[in-house]
Amino acid sequence: MYPVMLDVTDRACLVVGGGGVALRKAQGLVQENARVTVVAPDVVEPLERMAAAGRLALEKRSYVNGEAAGYALVIAATDNRQVNAQVFADADGAGVWVNVADDPELCSFYLPGRVRRGPLQIAIGTAGEAPFAVRRLRQLVERQLGPEWAEWTEAASRFRARVRALDLTAGKREALFDRFFIATVDRTRWRARVPTAAEEAEWLGVPVDHLEDEQSTDRRAACSDGTPRKGFVSLVGAGPGCPGLLTVRGRQRLYDANAVVYDRLAAAALPCDLAAEVELHPVGKEAGLHPMPQEEINALLVRLARRNLRVVRLKGGDPYVFGRGGEEAEVLRAAGVGFEVVPGVTSGVAALAWAGIPVTHRREAVRLTLLTAHEAVKTDGPQVRWDLLAQDEHATIVGYMGVTALPDVVRRLLEAGMHPDMPAALIERGTTAAQRHVVSTVANLPTAVEAAGLAPPALFVIGPTVRRSEVLNWFDRMPLAGHRLVVPDAAQVVVRQLEEAGADVVAVPFPVSPAARVVMAALPITGCVVTSSAEVDWLHDERSGGGWSDDTRSYCIGEAAADRARERGWRRVQTFAEGMDCGELMAGIATSRG
Ligand code: SAH
Repeated sequence: MYPVMLDVTDRACLVVGGGGVALRKAQGLVQENARVTVVAPDVVEPLERMAAAGRLALEKRSYVNGEAAGYALVIAATDNRQVNAQVFADADGAGVWVNVADDPELCSFYLPGRVRRGPLQIAIGTAGEAPFAVRRLRQLVERQLGPEWAEWTEAASRFRARVRALDLTAGKREALFDRFFIATVDRTRWRARVPTAAEEAEWLGVPVDHLEDEQSTDRRAACSDGTPRKGFVSLVGAGPGCPGLLTVRGRQRLYDANAVVYDRLAAAALPCDLAAEVELHPVGKEAGLHPMPQEEINALLVRLARRNLRVVRLKGGDPYVFGRGGEEAEVLRAAGVGFEVVPGVTSGVAALAWAGIPVTHRREAVRLTLLTAHEAVKTDGPQVRWDLLAQDEHATIVGYMGVTALPDVVRRLLEAGMHPDMPAALIERGTTAAQRHVVSTVANLPTAVEAAGLAPPALFVIGPTVRRSEVLNWFDRMPLAGHRLVVPDAAQVVVRQLEEAGADVVAVPFPVSPAARVVMAALPITGCVVTSSAEVDWLHDERSGGGWSDDTRSYCIGEAAADRARERGWRRVQTFAEGMDCGELMAGIATSRG
Protein backbone atom coordinates (compact mmCIF):
# COMPACT_ATOMS: atom_id res chain seq x y z
CA MET A 1 0.00 0.00 0.00
CA TYR A 2 1.31 3.38 -0.99
CA PRO A 3 -0.21 6.32 0.89
CA VAL A 4 -0.86 9.54 -1.02
CA MET A 5 -2.95 12.67 -0.47
CA LEU A 6 -4.98 13.42 -3.57
CA ASP A 7 -5.84 16.89 -4.78
CA VAL A 8 -9.43 16.31 -5.85
CA THR A 9 -10.23 19.99 -6.43
CA ASP A 10 -12.62 20.21 -9.41
CA ARG A 11 -12.16 16.56 -10.29
CA ALA A 12 -15.22 14.54 -11.22
CA CYS A 13 -15.90 12.00 -8.47
CA LEU A 14 -18.76 9.51 -8.32
CA VAL A 15 -20.51 8.21 -5.22
CA VAL A 16 -22.94 5.35 -5.83
CA GLY A 17 -25.43 4.94 -2.99
CA GLY A 18 -27.64 7.23 -0.94
CA GLY A 19 -27.45 6.06 2.69
CA GLY A 20 -25.47 7.27 5.66
CA VAL A 21 -22.17 5.80 4.49
CA ALA A 22 -22.52 7.34 1.00
CA LEU A 23 -23.36 10.65 2.66
CA ARG A 24 -20.16 10.64 4.69
CA LYS A 25 -18.04 9.81 1.65
CA ALA A 26 -19.75 12.52 -0.41
CA GLN A 27 -19.23 15.05 2.38
CA GLY A 28 -15.55 14.18 2.62
CA LEU A 29 -15.09 14.77 -1.10
CA VAL A 30 -17.18 17.96 -1.21
CA GLN A 31 -15.15 19.34 1.67
CA GLU A 32 -12.04 18.98 -0.49
CA ASN A 33 -13.77 20.78 -3.37
CA ALA A 34 -14.27 17.77 -5.62
CA ARG A 35 -17.02 17.88 -8.24
CA VAL A 36 -19.24 15.16 -6.79
CA THR A 37 -22.06 13.22 -8.47
CA VAL A 38 -24.24 11.00 -6.30
CA VAL A 39 -26.23 8.25 -8.04
CA ALA A 40 -28.94 6.42 -6.07
CA PRO A 41 -32.71 5.87 -6.38
CA ASP A 42 -33.30 6.92 -2.75
CA VAL A 43 -31.13 9.19 -0.67
CA VAL A 44 -31.06 10.43 2.94
CA GLU A 45 -32.24 13.96 3.74
CA PRO A 46 -28.80 15.63 4.12
CA LEU A 47 -27.84 14.54 0.58
CA GLU A 48 -31.02 16.18 -0.74
CA ARG A 49 -30.07 19.35 1.09
CA MET A 50 -26.51 19.33 -0.26
CA ALA A 51 -27.87 18.91 -3.77
CA ALA A 52 -30.40 21.72 -3.29
CA ALA A 53 -27.57 23.96 -2.09
CA GLY A 54 -25.61 23.17 -5.26
CA ARG A 55 -22.79 21.43 -3.39
CA LEU A 56 -23.13 18.22 -5.40
CA ALA A 57 -25.06 16.79 -8.35
CA LEU A 58 -27.74 14.30 -7.37
CA GLU A 59 -29.12 11.78 -9.87
CA LYS A 60 -31.96 9.81 -8.34
CA ARG A 61 -31.86 6.65 -10.38
CA SER A 62 -30.13 3.28 -10.51
CA TYR A 63 -26.49 2.94 -11.49
CA VAL A 64 -26.02 2.50 -15.25
CA ASN A 65 -23.47 -0.12 -16.23
CA GLY A 66 -20.24 1.39 -17.46
CA GLU A 67 -20.73 4.90 -16.16
CA ALA A 68 -18.03 4.66 -13.49
CA ALA A 69 -15.42 4.72 -16.23
CA GLY A 70 -15.94 8.44 -16.82
CA TYR A 71 -14.71 9.65 -13.43
CA ALA A 72 -11.40 10.35 -11.72
CA LEU A 73 -12.39 8.57 -8.49
CA VAL A 74 -15.29 6.30 -7.61
CA ILE A 75 -16.80 5.22 -4.30
CA ALA A 76 -19.63 2.69 -4.03
CA ALA A 77 -21.67 2.33 -0.84
CA THR A 78 -24.90 0.59 -1.77
CA ASP A 79 -26.33 -2.32 0.21
CA ASN A 80 -26.40 -4.45 -2.95
CA ARG A 81 -23.19 -6.39 -3.51
CA GLN A 82 -23.99 -7.00 -7.16
CA VAL A 83 -24.22 -3.28 -7.88
CA ASN A 84 -21.06 -2.67 -5.88
CA ALA A 85 -19.24 -5.38 -7.84
CA GLN A 86 -20.42 -3.90 -11.12
CA VAL A 87 -19.17 -0.44 -10.14
CA PHE A 88 -15.84 -1.92 -9.13
CA ALA A 89 -15.48 -3.86 -12.42
CA ASP A 90 -16.39 -0.81 -14.53
CA ALA A 91 -14.00 1.53 -12.74
CA ASP A 92 -11.12 -0.88 -12.33
CA GLY A 93 -11.40 -1.94 -15.97
CA ALA A 94 -11.07 1.69 -17.03
CA GLY A 95 -8.12 2.40 -14.74
CA VAL A 96 -10.18 4.52 -12.37
CA TRP A 97 -9.39 4.31 -8.64
CA VAL A 98 -12.34 2.72 -6.84
CA ASN A 99 -13.38 1.95 -3.27
CA VAL A 100 -16.36 -0.10 -2.16
CA ALA A 101 -17.30 0.64 1.44
CA ASP A 102 -16.77 -2.29 3.82
CA ASP A 103 -15.66 -4.65 1.02
CA PRO A 104 -11.84 -4.82 0.85
CA GLU A 105 -11.92 -7.22 -2.09
CA LEU A 106 -13.67 -4.63 -4.21
CA CYS A 107 -11.19 -1.84 -3.64
CA SER A 108 -8.21 -0.53 -5.55
CA PHE A 109 -7.62 1.97 -2.73
CA TYR A 110 -8.63 2.28 0.91
CA LEU A 111 -9.85 5.36 2.70
CA PRO A 112 -7.73 6.05 5.75
CA GLY A 113 -9.17 7.17 9.05
CA ARG A 114 -8.26 10.81 9.25
CA VAL A 115 -7.78 13.44 11.87
CA ARG A 116 -7.87 16.99 10.67
CA ARG A 117 -6.73 20.25 12.23
CA GLY A 118 -6.99 22.93 9.58
CA PRO A 119 -4.41 22.17 6.88
CA LEU A 120 -2.84 19.45 9.02
CA GLN A 121 -4.11 15.97 8.31
CA ILE A 122 -3.08 12.67 9.83
CA ALA A 123 -4.21 9.58 7.94
CA ILE A 124 -4.35 6.09 9.46
CA GLY A 125 -4.64 2.86 7.52
CA THR A 126 -4.24 -0.89 7.85
CA ALA A 127 -4.46 -1.77 4.14
CA GLY A 128 -8.08 -2.72 4.70
CA GLU A 129 -7.08 -5.46 7.18
CA ALA A 130 -8.52 -4.09 10.39
CA PRO A 131 -10.96 -1.20 9.96
CA PHE A 132 -12.01 -1.53 13.60
CA ALA A 133 -8.46 -0.77 14.66
CA VAL A 134 -8.35 2.27 12.39
CA ARG A 135 -11.53 3.64 13.98
CA ARG A 136 -10.18 3.26 17.48
CA LEU A 137 -6.78 4.65 16.65
CA ARG A 138 -8.43 7.59 14.96
CA GLN A 139 -10.38 8.33 18.14
CA LEU A 140 -7.17 8.10 20.12
CA VAL A 141 -5.34 10.57 17.88
CA GLU A 142 -8.46 12.75 17.72
CA ARG A 143 -8.38 13.13 21.50
CA GLN A 144 -4.63 13.55 21.69
CA LEU A 145 -4.36 16.32 19.12
CA GLY A 146 -5.76 19.63 20.38
CA PRO A 147 -7.47 22.19 18.14
CA GLU A 148 -4.45 24.47 18.46
CA TRP A 149 -2.66 22.40 15.80
CA ALA A 150 -4.75 24.09 13.11
CA GLU A 151 -3.45 27.51 14.07
CA TRP A 152 0.00 26.09 14.57
CA THR A 153 0.09 24.62 11.06
CA GLU A 154 -1.01 27.92 9.56
CA ALA A 155 1.75 29.65 11.56
CA ALA A 156 4.25 27.04 10.32
CA SER A 157 3.22 27.71 6.74
CA ARG A 158 3.63 31.48 7.19
CA PHE A 159 6.99 30.90 8.85
CA ARG A 160 8.15 28.74 5.97
CA ALA A 161 7.29 31.45 3.46
CA ARG A 162 9.20 34.02 5.50
CA VAL A 163 12.23 31.79 5.84
CA ARG A 164 12.28 31.09 2.12
CA ALA A 165 12.08 34.79 1.35
CA LEU A 166 15.35 35.28 3.24
CA ASP A 167 17.29 33.27 0.68
CA LEU A 168 19.44 31.30 3.15
CA THR A 169 21.51 28.15 2.71
CA ALA A 170 19.67 24.85 3.18
CA GLY A 171 21.47 24.28 6.50
CA LYS A 172 20.45 27.66 7.91
CA ARG A 173 16.87 27.16 6.78
CA GLU A 174 16.65 23.82 8.55
CA ALA A 175 18.14 25.33 11.69
CA LEU A 176 15.38 27.96 11.69
CA PHE A 177 12.70 25.30 11.17
CA ASP A 178 14.15 23.37 14.12
CA ARG A 179 14.03 26.48 16.23
CA PHE A 180 10.37 27.04 15.37
CA PHE A 181 9.49 23.42 16.10
CA ILE A 182 11.36 23.12 19.39
CA ALA A 183 10.00 26.41 20.72
CA THR A 184 6.38 25.76 19.82
CA VAL A 185 5.79 22.03 20.29
CA ASP A 186 5.61 20.24 23.62
CA ARG A 187 6.76 16.87 22.33
CA THR A 188 5.75 14.80 25.33
CA ARG A 189 2.24 16.20 25.76
CA TRP A 190 1.59 16.76 22.05
CA ARG A 191 0.55 20.35 22.59
CA ALA A 192 1.48 23.17 20.26
CA ARG A 193 1.38 26.93 20.38
CA VAL A 194 1.72 29.75 17.92
CA PRO A 195 4.91 31.77 18.40
CA THR A 196 4.54 35.45 19.19
CA ALA A 197 5.48 38.00 16.56
CA ALA A 198 8.41 39.03 18.76
CA GLU A 199 9.77 35.47 18.87
CA GLU A 200 9.52 35.05 15.13
CA ALA A 201 11.09 38.41 14.50
CA GLU A 202 14.00 37.45 16.73
CA TRP A 203 14.55 34.11 14.96
CA LEU A 204 14.34 35.69 11.54
CA GLY A 205 16.23 38.86 12.45
CA VAL A 206 13.55 41.21 11.06
CA PRO A 207 11.59 44.09 12.64
CA VAL A 208 8.59 42.90 14.65
CA ASP A 209 5.92 45.33 13.37
CA HIS A 210 6.27 43.89 9.91
CA LEU A 211 5.13 40.48 11.17
CA GLU A 212 2.34 41.70 13.44
CA ASP A 213 0.38 43.19 10.56
CA GLU A 214 0.26 39.91 8.73
CA GLN A 215 -0.59 37.89 11.81
CA SER A 216 -3.63 39.91 12.74
CA THR A 217 -5.62 39.05 9.64
CA ASP A 218 -7.88 36.08 9.22
CA ARG A 219 -10.00 34.86 6.38
CA ARG A 220 -13.11 35.09 8.57
CA ALA A 221 -12.26 38.65 9.49
CA ALA A 222 -14.99 40.22 7.37
CA CYS A 223 -18.74 40.33 7.99
CA SER A 224 -21.00 38.99 5.27
CA ASP A 225 -21.41 42.51 3.88
CA GLY A 226 -17.64 42.80 3.47
CA THR A 227 -16.94 45.31 6.25
CA PRO A 228 -14.01 44.32 8.43
CA ARG A 229 -14.93 42.82 11.78
CA LYS A 230 -13.14 43.38 15.05
CA GLY A 231 -12.28 40.59 17.42
CA PHE A 232 -14.54 40.41 20.46
CA VAL A 233 -14.78 38.12 23.46
CA SER A 234 -18.00 37.21 25.29
CA LEU A 235 -17.42 35.76 28.74
CA VAL A 236 -20.46 33.51 28.93
CA GLY A 237 -21.76 31.60 31.93
CA ALA A 238 -22.75 28.09 30.84
CA GLY A 239 -24.83 27.35 33.92
CA PRO A 240 -24.26 24.46 36.31
CA GLY A 241 -24.48 21.51 33.90
CA CYS A 242 -28.08 21.10 32.81
CA PRO A 243 -27.95 22.38 29.21
CA GLY A 244 -31.31 24.14 29.57
CA LEU A 245 -29.84 26.46 32.17
CA LEU A 246 -27.68 28.32 29.64
CA THR A 247 -29.19 31.78 29.13
CA VAL A 248 -30.88 32.82 25.89
CA ARG A 249 -28.21 35.46 25.32
CA GLY A 250 -25.41 32.99 25.99
CA ARG A 251 -26.85 30.60 23.45
CA GLN A 252 -27.14 33.35 20.88
CA ARG A 253 -23.48 34.34 21.40
CA LEU A 254 -22.45 30.72 20.87
CA TYR A 255 -24.30 30.54 17.56
CA ASP A 256 -22.60 33.78 16.46
CA ALA A 257 -19.11 32.66 17.51
CA ASN A 258 -16.14 31.68 15.33
CA ALA A 259 -14.30 30.15 18.28
CA VAL A 260 -15.33 28.75 21.65
CA VAL A 261 -12.90 28.31 24.54
CA TYR A 262 -14.59 26.10 27.10
CA ASP A 263 -14.02 24.53 30.51
CA ARG A 264 -14.80 20.94 31.30
CA LEU A 265 -17.78 21.86 33.46
CA ALA A 266 -19.17 24.02 30.65
CA ALA A 267 -18.93 21.44 27.86
CA ALA A 268 -22.40 19.98 28.44
CA ALA A 269 -24.02 23.32 27.60
CA LEU A 270 -22.61 23.60 24.06
CA PRO A 271 -25.38 23.44 21.47
CA CYS A 272 -24.91 20.16 19.55
CA ASP A 273 -25.75 21.81 16.25
CA LEU A 274 -22.97 24.37 16.40
CA ALA A 275 -21.50 24.74 12.89
CA ALA A 276 -18.55 22.43 12.21
CA GLU A 277 -16.40 25.46 11.25
CA VAL A 278 -16.50 26.88 14.79
CA GLU A 279 -13.13 26.32 16.45
CA LEU A 280 -13.52 24.40 19.71
CA HIS A 281 -10.76 24.90 22.27
CA PRO A 282 -11.04 22.79 25.44
CA VAL A 283 -8.95 24.28 28.23
CA GLY A 284 -10.26 22.47 31.29
CA LYS A 285 -9.08 19.31 32.92
CA GLU A 286 -9.92 16.37 30.66
CA ALA A 287 -9.30 12.68 31.18
CA GLY A 288 -5.56 12.26 31.57
CA LEU A 289 -4.71 15.84 30.64
CA HIS A 290 -3.79 18.75 32.86
CA PRO A 291 -5.85 21.89 32.60
CA MET A 292 -4.30 24.69 30.59
CA PRO A 293 -2.59 27.18 32.94
CA GLN A 294 -4.56 30.42 33.35
CA GLU A 295 -1.87 32.53 31.63
CA GLU A 296 -2.13 30.35 28.53
CA ILE A 297 -5.92 30.67 28.50
CA ASN A 298 -5.57 34.44 28.72
CA ALA A 299 -3.06 34.46 25.89
CA LEU A 300 -5.29 32.21 23.77
CA LEU A 301 -8.26 34.57 24.19
CA VAL A 302 -6.19 37.56 23.16
CA ARG A 303 -4.70 35.69 20.20
CA LEU A 304 -8.10 34.56 18.90
CA ALA A 305 -9.50 38.07 19.24
CA ARG A 306 -6.48 39.50 17.41
CA ARG A 307 -7.37 37.22 14.53
CA ASN A 308 -10.60 39.22 14.50
CA LEU A 309 -12.73 36.28 15.55
CA ARG A 310 -15.87 36.40 17.62
CA VAL A 311 -14.88 34.41 20.66
CA VAL A 312 -17.02 32.88 23.38
CA ARG A 313 -15.23 32.07 26.61
CA LEU A 314 -17.67 29.53 28.04
CA LYS A 315 -17.31 28.99 31.77
CA GLY A 316 -19.21 26.76 34.18
CA GLY A 317 -21.92 28.45 36.25
CA ASP A 318 -21.42 32.21 36.32
CA PRO A 319 -18.14 33.63 34.96
CA TYR A 320 -17.58 35.89 37.97
CA VAL A 321 -18.42 33.37 40.70
CA PHE A 322 -15.10 31.67 41.54
CA GLY A 323 -14.46 31.28 37.83
CA ARG A 324 -11.45 33.61 37.40
CA GLY A 325 -13.62 35.54 34.96
CA GLY A 326 -12.45 38.78 36.52
CA GLU A 327 -8.83 37.97 35.70
CA GLU A 328 -9.67 37.14 32.10
CA ALA A 329 -11.65 40.34 31.68
CA GLU A 330 -8.72 42.36 33.04
CA VAL A 331 -6.30 40.75 30.62
CA LEU A 332 -8.65 41.48 27.69
CA ARG A 333 -9.05 45.08 28.79
CA ALA A 334 -5.27 45.50 29.10
CA ALA A 335 -4.80 44.04 25.62
CA GLY A 336 -7.36 46.44 24.17
CA VAL A 337 -9.74 43.63 23.23
CA GLY A 338 -13.47 44.39 23.40
CA PHE A 339 -15.44 42.12 25.72
CA GLU A 340 -18.78 41.64 27.43
CA VAL A 341 -20.04 39.42 30.24
CA VAL A 342 -23.10 37.20 29.92
CA PRO A 343 -23.88 36.04 33.45
CA GLY A 344 -24.85 32.46 34.12
CA VAL A 345 -26.82 30.48 36.65
CA THR A 346 -24.35 29.70 39.39
CA SER A 347 -24.15 26.15 40.72
CA GLY A 348 -24.31 27.40 44.30
CA VAL A 349 -27.94 28.35 43.76
CA ALA A 350 -29.05 25.91 41.04
CA ALA A 351 -27.63 22.67 42.43
CA LEU A 352 -29.38 23.44 45.71
CA ALA A 353 -32.68 23.97 43.92
CA TRP A 354 -32.30 20.57 42.23
CA ALA A 355 -31.72 18.98 45.63
CA GLY A 356 -34.78 20.68 47.13
CA ILE A 357 -32.91 23.33 49.14
CA PRO A 358 -34.04 26.97 48.87
CA VAL A 359 -31.04 29.27 49.43
CA THR A 360 -33.20 31.67 51.43
CA HIS A 361 -36.51 31.18 53.18
CA ARG A 362 -38.66 33.75 54.96
CA ARG A 363 -37.55 34.13 58.59
CA GLU A 364 -35.52 30.91 58.45
CA ALA A 365 -32.57 32.01 56.29
CA VAL A 366 -32.14 35.67 55.48
CA ARG A 367 -28.50 35.78 54.45
CA LEU A 368 -26.46 33.84 51.92
CA THR A 369 -22.70 33.33 51.89
CA LEU A 370 -20.93 31.93 48.85
CA LEU A 371 -17.38 30.93 49.69
CA THR A 372 -14.56 28.97 48.17
CA ALA A 373 -13.64 26.36 50.72
CA HIS A 374 -10.44 25.43 48.95
CA GLU A 375 -8.90 28.90 49.37
CA ALA A 376 -10.49 29.65 52.67
CA VAL A 377 -8.90 26.85 54.69
CA LYS A 378 -5.37 27.61 53.49
CA THR A 379 -3.62 29.46 56.31
CA ASP A 380 -2.12 31.97 53.90
CA GLY A 381 -5.29 32.30 51.80
CA PRO A 382 -8.05 34.89 52.16
CA GLN A 383 -9.50 34.72 55.63
CA VAL A 384 -13.04 33.59 56.22
CA ARG A 385 -14.61 34.68 59.48
CA TRP A 386 -15.69 31.20 60.56
CA ASP A 387 -16.42 32.64 63.99
CA LEU A 388 -19.07 34.97 62.55
CA LEU A 389 -20.51 32.37 60.18
CA ALA A 390 -20.77 29.84 62.99
CA GLN A 391 -22.86 32.23 65.10
CA ASP A 392 -25.30 33.06 62.31
CA GLU A 393 -28.25 30.69 62.72
CA HIS A 394 -30.45 32.28 60.07
CA ALA A 395 -28.07 32.03 57.17
CA THR A 396 -27.07 29.65 54.39
CA ILE A 397 -23.41 28.89 53.70
CA VAL A 398 -22.55 27.48 50.28
CA GLY A 399 -19.02 26.18 49.79
CA TYR A 400 -17.55 25.78 46.29
CA MET A 401 -14.58 23.47 45.72
CA GLY A 402 -15.38 22.02 49.07
CA VAL A 403 -14.96 18.23 49.05
CA THR A 404 -11.40 17.90 50.35
CA ALA A 405 -11.66 20.96 52.56
CA LEU A 406 -14.92 19.82 54.15
CA PRO A 407 -13.57 18.16 57.35
CA ASP A 408 -11.47 21.26 58.03
CA VAL A 409 -14.39 23.60 57.45
CA VAL A 410 -16.65 21.60 59.76
CA ARG A 411 -14.04 21.50 62.51
CA ARG A 412 -13.62 25.26 62.39
CA LEU A 413 -17.37 25.90 62.46
CA LEU A 414 -17.92 23.56 65.40
CA GLU A 415 -14.99 25.06 67.28
CA ALA A 416 -16.50 28.48 66.73
CA GLY A 417 -19.77 27.36 68.27
CA MET A 418 -22.03 26.17 65.46
CA HIS A 419 -24.67 23.69 66.66
CA PRO A 420 -23.55 20.19 65.59
CA ASP A 421 -27.13 19.41 64.48
CA MET A 422 -27.30 22.27 61.99
CA PRO A 423 -28.60 20.65 58.75
CA ALA A 424 -26.02 20.29 55.96
CA ALA A 425 -25.73 18.66 52.57
CA LEU A 426 -23.23 17.99 49.82
CA ILE A 427 -24.29 17.94 46.17
CA GLU A 428 -22.19 16.37 43.43
CA ARG A 429 -22.71 17.38 39.76
CA GLY A 430 -25.92 19.19 40.62
CA THR A 431 -28.55 19.69 37.89
CA THR A 432 -27.09 16.92 35.72
CA ALA A 433 -28.22 13.34 35.25
CA ALA A 434 -25.20 12.32 37.32
CA GLN A 435 -26.34 14.35 40.34
CA ARG A 436 -25.96 12.70 43.75
CA HIS A 437 -26.32 14.28 47.13
CA VAL A 438 -26.38 13.48 50.83
CA VAL A 439 -28.21 15.32 53.56
CA SER A 440 -26.96 15.14 57.14
CA THR A 441 -26.00 17.38 60.05
CA VAL A 442 -22.95 19.57 59.91
CA ALA A 443 -21.11 17.37 62.41
CA ASN A 444 -21.80 14.19 60.44
CA LEU A 445 -21.49 15.54 56.92
CA PRO A 446 -17.84 14.54 56.32
CA THR A 447 -18.58 10.94 57.36
CA ALA A 448 -21.76 10.80 55.28
CA VAL A 449 -19.94 12.17 52.21
CA GLU A 450 -17.19 9.63 52.55
CA ALA A 451 -19.66 6.76 53.01
CA ALA A 452 -21.53 7.79 49.87
CA GLY A 453 -18.27 8.18 47.94
CA LEU A 454 -19.14 11.65 46.65
CA ALA A 455 -16.43 13.42 44.67
CA PRO A 456 -15.78 16.80 42.99
CA PRO A 457 -17.25 18.78 41.34
CA ALA A 458 -19.48 19.24 44.35
CA LEU A 459 -20.52 21.90 46.79
CA PHE A 460 -21.63 21.84 50.38
CA VAL A 461 -24.45 23.75 51.95
CA ILE A 462 -24.91 24.40 55.63
CA GLY A 463 -27.99 26.10 57.04
CA PRO A 464 -31.52 25.66 58.35
CA THR A 465 -33.23 25.40 54.93
CA VAL A 466 -31.39 22.17 54.15
CA ARG A 467 -34.00 20.30 56.18
CA ARG A 468 -36.64 21.32 53.63
CA SER A 469 -35.09 19.06 51.01
CA GLU A 470 -37.06 16.11 52.30
CA VAL A 471 -40.26 17.76 51.16
CA LEU A 472 -38.97 19.88 48.28
CA ASN A 473 -36.68 17.36 46.62
CA TRP A 474 -38.48 17.31 43.27
CA PHE A 475 -35.78 16.21 40.89
CA ASP A 476 -35.20 12.69 42.21
CA ARG A 477 -38.92 12.08 41.88
CA MET A 478 -38.96 12.67 38.12
CA PRO A 479 -39.51 9.40 36.26
CA LEU A 480 -36.36 9.80 34.12
CA ALA A 481 -34.08 11.52 36.65
CA GLY A 482 -30.57 10.18 36.24
CA HIS A 483 -30.95 9.27 32.59
CA ARG A 484 -28.70 10.94 30.05
CA LEU A 485 -29.94 9.99 26.61
CA VAL A 486 -28.51 10.53 23.15
CA VAL A 487 -31.46 11.08 20.80
CA PRO A 488 -31.53 12.07 17.10
CA ASP A 489 -32.36 15.79 17.00
CA ALA A 490 -34.87 15.14 14.23
CA ALA A 491 -37.10 13.46 16.83
CA GLN A 492 -38.10 16.81 18.39
CA VAL A 493 -41.30 15.61 20.04
CA VAL A 494 -39.53 12.71 21.73
CA VAL A 495 -36.71 15.02 22.84
CA ARG A 496 -39.13 17.38 24.57
CA GLN A 497 -41.13 14.67 26.27
CA LEU A 498 -38.04 12.91 27.58
CA GLU A 499 -36.75 16.23 28.93
CA GLU A 500 -40.04 16.96 30.64
CA ALA A 501 -39.79 13.60 32.37
CA GLY A 502 -36.45 14.62 33.87
CA ALA A 503 -33.96 13.12 31.42
CA ASP A 504 -30.89 15.01 30.24
CA VAL A 505 -31.29 14.74 26.47
CA VAL A 506 -28.37 15.17 24.08
CA ALA A 507 -30.13 15.91 20.79
CA VAL A 508 -27.54 14.87 18.23
CA PRO A 509 -27.68 15.90 14.58
CA PHE A 510 -26.77 13.30 11.97
CA PRO A 511 -24.11 13.19 10.72
CA VAL A 512 -22.67 13.80 14.18
CA SER A 513 -21.18 17.29 14.63
CA PRO A 514 -17.89 18.07 16.42
CA ALA A 515 -19.83 19.99 19.09
CA ALA A 516 -22.11 16.99 19.69
CA ARG A 517 -19.01 14.88 20.33
CA VAL A 518 -17.84 17.32 22.98
CA VAL A 519 -21.29 17.30 24.61
CA MET A 520 -21.58 13.50 24.59
CA ALA A 521 -18.18 13.19 26.28
CA ALA A 522 -19.07 15.72 29.01
CA LEU A 523 -20.95 13.24 31.22
CA PRO A 524 -21.80 9.53 31.23
CA ILE A 525 -24.45 8.50 28.69
CA THR A 526 -26.95 6.03 30.14
CA GLY A 527 -28.74 5.27 26.89
CA CYS A 528 -29.37 6.17 23.27
CA VAL A 529 -32.57 6.15 21.26
CA VAL A 530 -32.34 5.11 17.60
CA THR A 531 -35.19 4.92 15.12
CA SER A 532 -33.51 3.48 12.00
CA SER A 533 -30.57 1.36 10.91
CA ALA A 534 -28.96 4.47 9.37
CA GLU A 535 -28.90 6.08 12.82
CA VAL A 536 -27.29 2.95 14.22
CA ASP A 537 -24.55 3.25 11.60
CA TRP A 538 -24.07 6.92 12.35
CA LEU A 539 -23.72 6.37 16.07
CA HIS A 540 -21.60 3.29 15.79
CA ASP A 541 -18.28 5.08 15.37
CA GLU A 542 -19.12 7.46 18.18
CA ARG A 543 -19.53 4.73 20.77
CA SER A 544 -15.81 4.42 21.40
CA GLY A 545 -15.74 8.11 22.37
CA GLY A 546 -16.15 9.78 25.75
CA GLY A 547 -19.42 9.42 27.67
CA TRP A 548 -20.22 5.96 26.25
CA SER A 549 -19.61 2.76 28.20
CA ASP A 550 -20.63 -0.88 28.35
CA ASP A 551 -23.49 0.20 30.58
CA THR A 552 -25.01 2.45 27.91
CA ARG A 553 -28.34 1.00 26.81
CA SER A 554 -29.72 1.12 23.29
CA TYR A 555 -33.43 1.79 22.95
CA CYS A 556 -34.28 0.79 19.39
CA ILE A 557 -37.57 1.80 17.84
CA GLY A 558 -38.47 -0.81 15.25
CA GLU A 559 -36.99 -4.23 14.49
CA ALA A 560 -34.78 -2.89 11.68
CA ALA A 561 -32.89 -0.60 14.04
CA ALA A 562 -32.63 -3.32 16.70
CA ASP A 563 -31.34 -5.92 14.20
CA ARG A 564 -28.72 -3.51 12.91
CA ALA A 565 -27.65 -2.64 16.46
CA ARG A 566 -27.19 -6.32 17.35
CA GLU A 567 -25.36 -6.91 14.06
CA ARG A 568 -22.99 -4.11 15.00
CA GLY A 569 -22.32 -5.84 18.31
CA TRP A 570 -24.21 -3.37 20.53
CA ARG A 571 -25.17 -4.81 23.88
CA ARG A 572 -28.12 -4.00 26.13
CA VAL A 573 -30.40 -3.57 23.13
CA GLN A 574 -34.06 -3.03 23.94
CA THR A 575 -36.67 -3.05 21.16
CA PHE A 576 -39.83 -0.93 20.97
CA ALA A 577 -42.58 -1.33 18.40
CA GLU A 578 -42.54 1.20 15.59
CA GLY A 579 -45.36 3.70 15.99
CA MET A 580 -45.77 3.18 19.73
CA ASP A 581 -46.48 6.30 21.73
CA CYS A 582 -43.80 8.13 23.65
CA GLY A 583 -45.28 7.06 26.99
CA GLU A 584 -44.33 3.46 26.30
CA LEU A 585 -40.79 4.46 25.42
CA MET A 586 -40.50 6.48 28.62
CA ALA A 587 -41.87 3.67 30.74
CA GLY A 588 -39.44 1.26 29.10
CA ILE A 589 -36.49 3.56 29.75
CA ALA A 590 -37.56 4.25 33.33
CA THR A 591 -37.69 0.57 34.23
CA SER A 592 -34.62 -0.52 32.27
CA ARG A 593 -31.93 0.41 34.74
CA GLY A 594 -31.16 -1.90 37.56
N1 SAH B 1 -18.31 29.64 38.15
C1 SAH B 1 -18.81 28.42 38.72
C2 SAH B 1 -17.94 27.87 39.82
C3 SAH B 1 -16.53 27.54 39.42
S1 SAH B 1 -15.57 26.88 40.72
C4 SAH B 1 -20.26 28.62 39.16
O1 SAH B 1 -20.73 29.75 39.19
O2 SAH B 1 -20.95 27.63 39.43
C5 SAH B 1 -15.82 25.14 40.50
C6 SAH B 1 -16.63 24.61 41.63
O3 SAH B 1 -17.99 24.91 41.42
C7 SAH B 1 -16.60 23.11 41.79
O4 SAH B 1 -15.47 22.69 42.49
C8 SAH B 1 -17.86 22.86 42.57
O5 SAH B 1 -17.68 23.17 43.92
C9 SAH B 1 -18.78 23.89 41.99
N2 SAH B 1 -19.64 23.35 40.95
C10 SAH B 1 -19.69 23.70 39.65
N3 SAH B 1 -20.65 23.03 39.01
C11 SAH B 1 -21.24 22.24 39.92
C12 SAH B 1 -22.32 21.31 39.89
N4 SAH B 1 -22.98 21.06 38.77
N5 SAH B 1 -22.68 20.70 41.05
C13 SAH B 1 -22.02 20.94 42.19
N6 SAH B 1 -20.99 21.79 42.27
C14 SAH B 1 -20.60 22.44 41.16
